[in-house]
Amino acid sequence: MKVDQILNSKGVAGVATVKPGSKVADAARLLSEKKIGAVIVSSDGVTPAGILSERDIVRDLGRRGAECMEDKIDSLMTVNLVSCARGDDAELVLTQMTDGRFRHMPVLEDGKMVGLISIGDVVKARLSELKMERDALEGMVRGH
Ligand code: AMP
Repeated sequence: MKVDQILNSKGVAGVATVKPGSKVADAARLLSEKKIGAVIVSSDGVTPAGILSERDIVRDLGRRGAECMEDKIDSLMTVNLVSCARGDDAELVLTQMTDGRFRHMPVLEDGKMVGLISIGDVVKARLSELKMERDALEGMVRGH
């Protein structure tokens, strides 16, 4: 299965982004409103400069307390982004996420973001693929 199929099955266009220099509180509000676990940091909405996940915020909250909410996201975000392409294999993406201990990956095309997939999206798509394979095998065994 390819990343493209997962993006299509999500059926949600666009990626939630925040601009560099935004406050942590604003990013947290966006995560909460959209019920998502990470936002891409980007000045134009398509060129990623980094990623900020709920983990980055919680880590700083635990370390410094609520005052971190007034800080800028720039010092909390991860700038060395691991991304993937539409044609990449979902298994490879899952391995990269598992090995790298992160759960989100932007999908890039010519340096521009065309989507974002989470580990949940990949696992869901893989489970449905496995179910289809199982149903097909059962059908063959039963002869229909
Ligand atoms: P997550 O599991 O996605 O909530 O993120 C765990 C940590 O990995 C956080 O510090 C994120 O900023 C970072 N992170 C998330 N996604 C990526 C990615 N695609 N590339 C690099 N770092 C990431």
